[in-house]
Amino acid sequence: MNLITFDSERSMFTNSRDILQTPIEYLKGVGPLKGDLLRKELGIHTFGDMLQYYPFRYMDRSSFTKIKDIPEGGATVQLIGKITYLEMAGSQKGRRLVGTFKDGTGSMDLVWFQGISGVERAIEQGGNFLVYGKASRFNGYWTITHPEMDAIENIELDNFPSFQPVYSSTEKLRLKWLAGRAYVKLVQQLFLAIRAKEIIEMLPDVLLRKFNLCDRYFALKNIHFPESDESLQRAIYRLKFEELFLHQIGICKLKLNHQKVKGFVFGKVGDHFNTFYSLHLPFELTGDQKKVLKEIRHNTQTGTQMNRLLQGDVGSGKTIVALLCMLLAIDNGFQACLMAPTEILASQHDAGIRELLTEMNIEVGFLTGKTKAKERKRILQQLQNGEMKIVIGTHALIEDKVIFQNLGLCIIDEQHRFGVAQRAKLWDKNILPPHILVMTATPIPRTLAMTSYGDLEVSVIKELPPGRKPITTVHRTESYRAKVMDFIRHEIQLGRQIYIVYPLIAESEKLDYENLYAGYEQVKQFFPEHTYQIAMVHGKQTQEERENNMLSFVKGKAHILVATTVIEVGVNVPNASVMVIESAERFGLSQMHQLRGRVGRGADKSYCILITGPKLSVIGKERIKTMVTETSGFAISEKDLELRGPGEIDGVRQSGAADLKIADIIHDVELMATTRQAAVDLLQADPNLETAAHVNLKNYLMGRKEKEIWSRIS
Ligand code: ADP
Ligand code: MG
Repeated sequence: MNLITFDSERSMFTNSRDILQTPIEYLKGVGPLKGDLLRKELGIHTFGDMLQYYPFRYMDRSSFTKIKDIPEGGATVQLIGKITYLEMAGSQKGRRLVGTFKDGTGSMDLVWFQGISGVERAIEQGGNFLVYGKASRFNGYWTITHPEMDAIENIELDNFPSFQPVYSSTEKLRLKWLAGRAYVKLVQQLFLAIRAKEIIEMLPDVLLRKFNLCDRYFALKNIHFPESDESLQRAIYRLKFEELFLHQIGICKLKLNHQKVKGFVFGKVGDHFNTFYSLHLPFELTGDQKKVLKEIRHNTQTGTQMNRLLQGDVGSGKTIVALLCMLLAIDNGFQACLMAPTEILASQHDAGIRELLTEMNIEVGFLTGKTKAKERKRILQQLQNGEMKIVIGTHALIEDKVIFQNLGLCIIDEQHRFGVAQRAKLWDKNILPPHILVMTATPIPRTLAMTSYGDLEVSVIKELPPGRKPITTVHRTESYRAKVMDFIRHEIQLGRQIYIVYPLIAESEKLDYENLYAGYEQVKQFFPEHTYQIAMVHGKQTQEERENNMLSFVKGKAHILVATTVIEVGVNVPNASVMVIESAERFGLSQMHQLRGRVGRGADKSYCILITGPKLSVIGKERIKTMVTETSGFAISEKDLELRGPGEIDGVRQSGAADLKIADIIHDVELMATTRQAAVDLLQADPNLETAAHVNLKNYLMGRKEKEIWSRIS
């Protein structure tokens, strides 16, 4: 996660007696063995960690039922009674412990598959039990599997809250009796061990009042053991606010720091840029391209380092912007590199940029993991002695062996596959960090941009190059396939080319390949070989085979290209006018959008046809509908985020947005905006958190930093 650096007054903030830093094994009832489990299974190292391990729901333990009153359909119930008989049933895999439980109104079974010896021990002592769990009919008999059980005599009434927290746990903890009530008891113990005044309020009073937030102790107490629903809601709101606010403070601070990081000055526009611009630019730049160039130009001459995200939909023309920026770097005496996440993308950039630079006398290097030793040696040498001005490649560019004479600009394409750590690594390569321009075609939704890319300045290309006609997107079920083929035949007669894409997903790879081959045969039946040429590309072909097949399509020989998503990025065949996506319900939204971006690159009217089975899930329907109605990549990725949830979006995990414990970037958008503003205001008034009102906040942030370092070392 983003670290925060405050440069002064460190010692003041490490409070050695901070009880929340106490290792978890010192909590009564934990000890070294259980402590180890809590660390490994839940990441709970300290009292503070346990405090911030929030429940995900609550059980209502305030009402009781009798066995005879359990509603016929089954229900979650709380009963009091005795276990009258205990036996092992089943064999091997199905081995289970079955207890007969009676409460005077009826009898039922309690069943355990795991942790059996623990249950036996507990039950040996006899007496009445409080049993809680989901009762359902099994062979006509009421049964609760793995109930929560407490011996009545152990329950001190005020230590048995009626609203009980439920924490997510692991199999191992369940086996070791550290889940459910047992864990809850530890949290109760924790609240006995810490006093209210030891929970330091880090939010300034002004904020508490302005946003009507409850204090921190109240919030933590109530998130675990709510006094009432109202208190719970207040606690949740406060903790969400706190989480988002601290996150935003971190981001804003990072941004402020970045703004202070010294950078190279690209003071002039020189010969390379001007010659290319006036003589070799193949088209007039769009307004947005010019705007972005201005932003970058401005950003690189202020003496601070640029950290900029360039968002632009597929086909919006980011490459030319990248090239012009590299020329700007060269004009100012620096080297520039362009880094792409895959070999294919890197080589396409390489080919494209070499072509654009044909008439210019500029040496371009191409460095990937596959570069031959001799060539690699030459490139490394020329990068080090400064002869080579532009290098294009993959991660290979950030290996330690690569030393630049003076790298002034690094452009990273398709950021979502490059982690923050890799970005940082580039910085080591120089006295000053190079300017960084991150380009992404996966438009990052506003909310995400705010949480995870808040430390970057953002440039956006919204306008597409002129002459692009919107792509008509339609949805057809499989029963319409013959009609779709008729349509395709018509397009081919008009001289156009067609993509037909099949899903290929790692988990179902074998089946997917079968479908792909079957699809290929089917297409051949519609388009007999003596009249039509059909090429196929997929990941199992040798590179040569794949390239040959691809080439026959690129050159216009093949009418139809049957493919998997290997064609997702980069391929440019302006004559292709139809993209057919088979089993479209199995594709993600962003993926379909990328695929659709393969057509509509020429002057012809283009189509995207989504073929699905007859029945779609609710989300499946929503996805297809989104594709049909939305054309903007931004709108689509917002929708994607909404339908999939943040954790599943590419690269979000590594970007840290999913680190939030309680707030949620989809539902708490408004609060996110609120806290961002609050953070901006606070830092504007007190950039280094030096006033008395912000001492606790600063302490808290510093404490977190210490912990991060500590956990990395250990
Ligand atoms: P992306 O943003 O997806 O990387 P590219 O840079 O590959 O897009 O550009 C897509 C296509 O549009 C390329 O063929 C490029 O030559 C063309 N292009 C880019 N800018 C313009 C422009 N201003 N006018 C016309 N065509 C352009
Ligand atoms: Mg591109």
